[in-house]
Amino acid sequence: MQDARQFYIDGAWVDPVDGTDMPVHDPSTEEAFATITNGGPEDADRAVAAAKAAFPKWRLSSKAERLDLLESIQSVYARRSDEMGDVISREMGAPVDMSRTQQSGTGSFHLGAFIDALRDFDFEHPYKPDDTATHIIHEPIGVCALITPWNWPMNQITLKVIPALATGCTSILKPSELSPLSAMLFFEILHEAGVPAGVCNLVNGDGAGVGSRLSSHEDVDMVSFTGSTRAGRLITKAASETIKRVTLELGGKGANIVFADADPKAVKQGVIRCFNNTGQSCNAPTRMLVERSRYDEAVEQAAAAAEATQVNAASEAGRHIGPLVSAAQFEKVQVLIQAGIDEGARLVAGGVGRPEGVNRGWFVRPTVFADCTNDMRIMREEIFGPVLSMMPFDSEEEAIEIANDTPYGLTSYVQTTDPEKARRVARLLRTGMVDMNGKGRSAGSPFGGMKQSGNGREGGVWGLEDFLEVRAIGGWPAA
Ligand code: NAD
Repeated sequence: MQDARQFYIDGAWVDPVDGTDMPVHDPSTEEAFATITNGGPEDADRAVAAAKAAFPKWRLSSKAERLDLLESIQSVYARRSDEMGDVISREMGAPVDMSRTQQSGTGSFHLGAFIDALRDFDFEHPYKPDDTATHIIHEPIGVCALITPWNWPMNQITLKVIPALATGCTSILKPSELSPLSAMLFFEILHEAGVPAGVCNLVNGDGAGVGSRLSSHEDVDMVSFTGSTRAGRLITKAASETIKRVTLELGGKGANIVFADADPKAVKQGVIRCFNNTGQSCNAPTRMLVERSRYDEAVEQAAAAAEATQVNAASEAGRHIGPLVSAAQFEKVQVLIQAGIDEGARLVAGGVGRPEGVNRGWFVRPTVFADCTNDMRIMREEIFGPVLSMMPFDSEEEAIEIANDTPYGLTSYVQTTDPEKARRVARLLRTGMVDMNGKGRSAGSPFGGMKQSGNGREGGVWGLEDFLEVRAIGGWPAA
């Protein structure tokens, strides 16, 4: 059993003060393989005190110094990237090949984009070229609590720890208690790269313990949170007494609008995208809306794609999907698949229970429902498993209305070969991001949602701005 009970505070690995031990399970075998400590309030306070003490000096660090540090982190990360992929795979169940490329790869992707954004960022400038008496300063907000989920651990951690560091903030990371080991490896990387003591701190813990302590702490100036809408609400309430900034990246229920003129592979690609990471992505295209003339064919294609999806242990090489992260997540997905059946959706692939021949591990069957209506639970709730819900539409207006009829607003998808239609529909969708015809967005473009998907924008220059205060100073003397 791996002993992973320490925290990283003030530049050193330290023993917990008042935590309780918790096992980390391998989702493919359900076996515990490591022990962490869920910290208590004193552990959280200790990390906040270290971040607070380090802030006055780090706030005044130069941009050149911070750029050097980010480049050093980038090079250590690149060297340990495969190791990172292996750790993520074991703790949250992403298949190892996918974990080494996609999961671990997100860290390098964001590091590169933040280095570019920081290099070009102007922390001080005149209000206008012809009004230099008013001076604008972009100033680090202070001590930041960073709370992250388990589904894309390095994606979320680098989207928070790196911009905090880059802007001159100090921080405390509380990773998900389901994916603590990748966070600990990341802090080994930060240490090796030379991050000064107290600038970045790590405390493991659960939401009710360390998470809520950090959210309500009077010495924390900002909480940057990624996770469920449920926890986002609790954090916002806990933070309100101290009026700290709260940025939220929450859940999603992305619509994928497939028009009749879409590329022939659009449906299959939509299923693959929905099932990637075993459906555990906030931006997964989980509601497939298909123009009626192509609907029956699309249902057949989606069912075939689901049947062709292999499910296997995370440790096996190959392009299969792995298990869900936990027993709780397995149960939740079972309940929602059953709800789809009970509410009258037509099950065309998969269903409840484990895949045939599998009797342990949190594996579920790749599932497709057809003939859904937008009031069904499987169309409204984030399932977070390999479950696709399909329904037909008759007009562009109807497709947009269904797509927007959700409390979420993270990512929408549009499949059409008509450029004018693509532009028109993208403008009308109420989501922070729209991905069209299988094309992703560039590194450093803003990631974030509208409505109950949150209010933050992470990545690149927008990700830096989230961690900055803008100050205006009048009577600035001429140089
Ligand atoms: P979760 O909300 O249960 O937990 C996320 C983190 O918040 C964990 O570290 C957890 O310990 C902590 N937490 C829970 N309750 C808390 C509380 N009351 N106070 C403080 N911290 C608390 O979510 P999860 O199950 O780990 O992750 C899945 C969710 O994350 C999904 O809803 C998914 O859509 C969302 N997500 C969103 C994005 C995005 O960028 N929009 C990205 C990835 C995941």
